[in-house]
Amino acid sequence: MTWTPYHGDSYLDLSAVDAFCTSLAAALPGWVTLTEVGRSRHDRPLWLLTLSRTGGVLSERPAFWLDAGTHAAELTGVMAALYAVSRWAEALAAGDATTCAWFSTHAVYVMPCISPDGFDAMCSGAPFLRSTLRPPKPGAVRSGLEPRDMDGDGAVRWMRWRHPAGPFVADPDLPLYMRPRTLDDDPGDAWFVCDEGEFIAWDGVAWKRASREFSVDLNRNFPGSWAPFSMFDMDGGAFAMSEPESRAVVDAFAARPTIGSGLSHHTYTGCLLTQPYRLDSPLSQADQDLMHHLATGAVEGTSYPVTKVVPDFTYDPKRAIVGVWADTMATLFGVPGYTLELWNPFAAAGLQIDKPLDFFMKPDPVRMRQLFAHFFSEGESTTAWRAFDHPQLGPVELGGIDYLRTIRNPPESLLAGECEAGFRVAERLRRALPEVRASVRQWRHGDATVVEVALENVGYLPTSGLALGAQLQATPALSVTVRCGEGASVVSGTSAVELGHLEGWGQALVGSARSAIYPSLPVQGHRAGARFVIEGAGPVVIDWIAGRAGHGTLTLDLATEEAHP
Ligand SMILES: [Zn+2]
Repeated sequence: MTWTPYHGDSYLDLSAVDAFCTSLAAALPGWVTLTEVGRSRHDRPLWLLTLSRTGGVLSERPAFWLDAGTHAAELTGVMAALYAVSRWAEALAAGDATTCAWFSTHAVYVMPCISPDGFDAMCSGAPFLRSTLRPPKPGAVRSGLEPRDMDGDGAVRWMRWRHPAGPFVADPDLPLYMRPRTLDDDPGDAWFVCDEGEFIAWDGVAWKRASREFSVDLNRNFPGSWAPFSMFDMDGGAFAMSEPESRAVVDAFAARPTIGSGLSHHTYTGCLLTQPYRLDSPLSQADQDLMHHLATGAVEGTSYPVTKVVPDFTYDPKRAIVGVWADTMATLFGVPGYTLELWNPFAAAGLQIDKPLDFFMKPDPVRMRQLFAHFFSEGESTTAWRAFDHPQLGPVELGGIDYLRTIRNPPESLLAGECEAGFRVAERLRRALPEVRASVRQWRHGDATVVEVALENVGYLPTSGLALGAQLQATPALSVTVRCGEGASVVSGTSAVELGHLEGWGQALVGSARSAIYPSLPVQGHRAGARFVIEGAGPVVIDWIAGRAGHGTLTLDLATEEAHP
């Protein structure tokens, strides 16, 4: 199977996404490993791509995590993940020296589609669904309007019919836009508008919507601050990681304790979300500052602002957002993990919306009309109202914008640009990883040799990911262990030493080096060392572990002659 890089020219369906992954692993066996890290509710494989030079222990290399497709309709995220993988894989295949060197000592883990069941349904024209195909609770009775493609045109659009109780009025100049009704409007001009669909378990009278069939929101099912949740007729699952997909993500992440930064692709609104997720965040102000600083650097050259979830991306600041994957990365694993909300349909329509969530809750009709006018002018993404004989309602009209490729995701013509912007963010987060270098010196002291091992972190992030990571159990602390050959032994102290985590230069920028007027050195610093007194001769192996900066090994031959440090 030949592998074709993905450049964002069109949306791929699930079989094409799977083919991309399997063919890439087959085409670049020296650089790419494909692992099934779980099965979806409908028994589809949950794929994890590992980009790193194969051979050796990949799980000991510092790594960047990228995922997408938690939300089924957010196709752009999946495409942007494949785009990023393609950019890296093409550079590796071409033998680009810098890329090859980096991927020889580091790894990138990519989970391109966390909810393949939902993604496949969305690609097949199913009604909007949040994440997976988790069925309603046994015995749940659902009745009311169920979204459905009634005329078989491959999409669930809108449906409208005239009625004096209707809350909408047609806009004479903008055919698809239905404006809010006013008290001055003629009741004869009023319409009901809803999803295209039919009434299930209908009493023949009531016009009300059915509860969602697939209501789980996977991004409320992760263990970070999980609590029972419901909003917009969606829920966070029965308990944290009750869903096979979220459990597989957490297990895959936890099994790779050298992941130092992470990015989770979503849509829409076009922003990079950062901490805090709630007012009583377990992250210190210093960690929040570090994440904000890194985010600001990561979005450089893109149109994405950095947005703090609290207070700027929350429906209700008094209600904590629970069970979010990016928050789980930060608060339970101590890894700076972000949600990237790709695609800003408002900006595409020439609108500046400072607080998108306010726009969802209280949409301004003037700006709403502008949004419609833009997508209507695009033409291909809209279908004009047309008559349809509804089996329950009689004559209605069907029509509307292609929501999946206007609001939720960009039209295909703008997809590549969005993927490229996402790739820039991923690139910066990849370059921010902690990066530990080890050096060793030795000198004779009487009959023994003193071996001094120094570890230093030259990376942006600390070896603990975030400072909080040093207090959690998700990654090992720094340690140095000396293994002597037959003819030598450690004669003073122990052969293994535990050291504190090492800071990164990013921390200095939000801490000790915050001001050029008052520059100073940090309290903890980026270097640490250990000394061993060894008698004898021959080779000595030094193993070091540096948390999320990975593992390393040094070897040296003990000096037999007098030398000065
Ligand atoms: Zn999402």
